[in-house]
Amino acid sequence: MDEPANQVLFSVFAFVLGAVVGSFLNVCIYRLPLDLSVNRPRRSFCPACKNPIPWHQNLPLLSWLFLRGRCANCGAKIAFRYFAVELLTALLFLAVWQLFPWQIAIAYWVFVSLVIAATFIDFEHFIIPDQITIGGAIAGIAASVLVPQLMGTDSRVAALIRSALAAALGYIILWIVLEAGKLAFGKKRIRLDAPTPFSWTRHEDDADFVVGEERSLWSDHFARESDRLLLYCHESRIDSRSYGEVTLDFHYNRLKAGDDEFALDQVNEITGIAHALQIPREAMGRGDLKFLAAIGAFLGWRAVLFSLFGASLVGSLVGLVTLVLGKRVWSAKLPFGPYLALGALVWMFFGDELVRWYIGLVSP
Ligand SMILES: [Zn+2]
Repeated sequence: MDEPANQVLFSVFAFVLGAVVGSFLNVCIYRLPLDLSVNRPRRSFCPACKNPIPWHQNLPLLSWLFLRGRCANCGAKIAFRYFAVELLTALLFLAVWQLFPWQIAIAYWVFVSLVIAATFIDFEHFIIPDQITIGGAIAGIAASVLVPQLMGTDSRVAALIRSALAAALGYIILWIVLEAGKLAFGKKRIRLDAPTPFSWTRHEDDADFVVGEERSLWSDHFARESDRLLLYCHESRIDSRSYGEVTLDFHYNRLKAGDDEFALDQVNEITGIAHALQIPREAMGRGDLKFLAAIGAFLGWRAVLFSLFGASLVGSLVGLVTLVLGKRVWSAKLPFGPYLALGALVWMFFGDELVRWYIGLVSP
């Protein structure tokens, strides 16, 4: 076979492999946050009717198109996300194959897979599982030892040290940002425009929390044991007990109202009129620290700084735009992982050019 035909064949292979891996990533995105096993049941199943999906209806990209995004058994809509993840993975696998020597390309395929899984899980669940972050950091260090060129060296020992240090840098630098952010934005006090009715209604081991027009899930407001949510009320009613001017001091599972204490699993309903509230606000999850460590392990220390800088910039812009459009509400959480992922991918593809451009800028 001549060279160009070989090239085409390998490129097709990279694309198809990407689509197949994307299909597996869809399973991870669905199952990892739910603590379901990734390979049991081995067969994929429809999220709506739980019917197993036979292999010929489970072909990456093609099946979604042929079935027009519906389950062949029950007709339930299958989210566009499934198709998008497969296409995105396929295209990134192809681009990586075209742009990098094959040893590096294989390492970057692993990295791209981790980044896509992290991004989509974070968007939906606001967490990045340890399997991806800690697993990713270990995989990155191992890949750097196997392919030292990832760390810009020929020495395996040097690559090991650089990769491990970059992972540590990623964790520590974001830890510092997080601690500083907690001092600055750790709590958010919201003054309501007018006295606003609220309700807290328990169902099973969670509750619906509604303030004015905004409805949220109780557990969404709490990240750790010490988090407190304060409601400043003109009046309130906890099951059968009434209070006048009172501050309701909530922890995740308990509540203080004046001198009275309640365990929230003994309370069914709380209602009242509030004029302000203070919510715990965690700018980032702990998963982001470990995710930036994984980015460092694969791409090196400069990628850590670039991803953090890029993520903060894009994150602020998105925050600003949603604020201006009036889409931002106080209960909305913003994931940070997808922005880190974007920064890391930009660095992976264009980092060398960016460095050259920057050096040209400072020393013409
Ligand atoms: Zn179905």
